[in-house]
Amino acid sequence: MTVNDATRKLVRQRANFLCEYCHSLEEASAAKFAIDHILPQSLGGSDNPDNLALACQRCNGYRYNFTTGIDPQTQEVIPLFHPRKQKWSDHFIWSTDGLRIIGVTPTGQATCNRLDVNDERHNEGSIVKARRLWLQGGWHPPEEDPRQQT
Ligand SMILES: [Zn+2]
Repeated sequence: MTVNDATRKLVRQRANFLCEYCHSLEEASAAKFAIDHILPQSLGGSDNPDNLALACQRCNGYRYNFTTGIDPQTQEVIPLFHPRKQKWSDHFIWSTDGLRIIGVTPTGQATCNRLDVNDERHNEGSIVKARRLWLQGGWHPPEEDPRQQT
């Protein structure tokens, strides 16, 4: 029931040391990232690498045992973004200033909402403040991520 060290290493490297939900960089964060079970163990999810993702403490905490979120535009219940089966850039973009994640599909929007990826409901936007510093440091956002066009 515990993920072994070799698997942890694989998950970290595969994720390029980024949270697979909010693309925070582990090195720039105070807390070590968690190995997230995409289908939670409480719902029968396995320790197979196909069911694992690297997640920062905030995303891991907000995701908890949830596998769905609400699309704020339609109020529909939508499965959360699945880092193994879906591609981040198909569902999310960065705002022009690189500080906020914008969901561009129902999956993206439901995930942004559930994980509060821009700290709009919690922490007084502290993740946005951290991103501003990372941006100044040249670590953020990841180069391959799309940004909103003006
Ligand atoms: Zn995260």
